[in-house]
Amino acid sequence: MKTFLIIDVGGTSIKIHLLYEEKKGQLKVKREIFPTKKAENVNRLIEHIRNFFHKYPLPDTVILGIPGEYDHKKDTLLTSPNIPAWKNLELKDTLIKGGLGRKIIVENDVNLQTLGELEKGYGKKWMNFIFLAIGTGIGSGIVIDGKLVRGSGGGAGEIGHILIHPEGEMCGCGRRGCLEAYASGSGIVKSYKRLGGKKDVKTSEEVYTLAVEGDETAVKAFEIMGRYLGWGIASVVNILEPEGIVLSGGVTESRDLFEKKMVEAFKERTFTHQGRNTPIKFSLLKSHALWGGINILKKEGKIPSLVSITLSW
Ligand SMILES: [Zn+2]
Repeated sequence: MKTFLIIDVGGTSIKIHLLYEEKKGQLKVKREIFPTKKAENVNRLIEHIRNFFHKYPLPDTVILGIPGEYDHKKDTLLTSPNIPAWKNLELKDTLIKGGLGRKIIVENDVNLQTLGELEKGYGKKWMNFIFLAIGTGIGSGIVIDGKLVRGSGGGAGEIGHILIHPEGEMCGCGRRGCLEAYASGSGIVKSYKRLGGKKDVKTSEEVYTLAVEGDETAVKAFEIMGRYLGWGIASVVNILEPEGIVLSGGVTESRDLFEKKMVEAFKERTFTHQGRNTPIKFSLLKSHALWGGINILKKEGKIPSLVSITLSW
């Protein structure tokens, strides 16, 4: 029996998925959740994962989705915002030596999510789409002709850092005026404070609650977010003319406060008739990273493309 692991390193939790063949052509998926805070010591995480699959054979392949900067040539994780202690870490080597599996594939977290959307979401009907994960920051992935665009060094698709306002707000990346500085969760908080909102507000969820309670400054912060997001998407559509845009991530739960402005701004700045009519959809998928991992396993020929998959939660 072959087994596989798909590990999703998120900001608050690490989701570990174990895939195993229950019957021929049928894969079952078990899930285990580990707090990200406790993963500062990588050996503790490894031990936890080993306990999770100890009744099963050693995984054939482990796929790990992690945010941050990864040097694929040196197989080293340079930095990761979710686990600051994982710095200059030879991740593959550490996991193999820790007894997790024979082959480790490391993928940027949003790229893995984009592949998930390709496998199980809107990618089922679109071969060309842009995926945006809007949370505290903005991550994104670009799929052209059914393939993820990686760029020459693996860093392509950073739509969150396209320049939208040269003298504008400071971005999390240390530069000024990126899309992310306006159209992400942290961007919403920045706009709210810039407009004179309450100083102790820390998250876009708080701004959302204030907006729902009638705080006009909070409502305005979401309108600004929507407008910049629409402009940002228009810029990308003007270059790539995809079949559609997929929005995902925690901030999209506040769509009632920004969707209208986003669509208006998008239509205003799109160049072609075709582009203006590009559908902008909110992802319906859960467990993006899991499905992204399954997409990779299929492409690597590790599992059949028509396998049936059952989730056990
Ligand atoms: Zn930036």
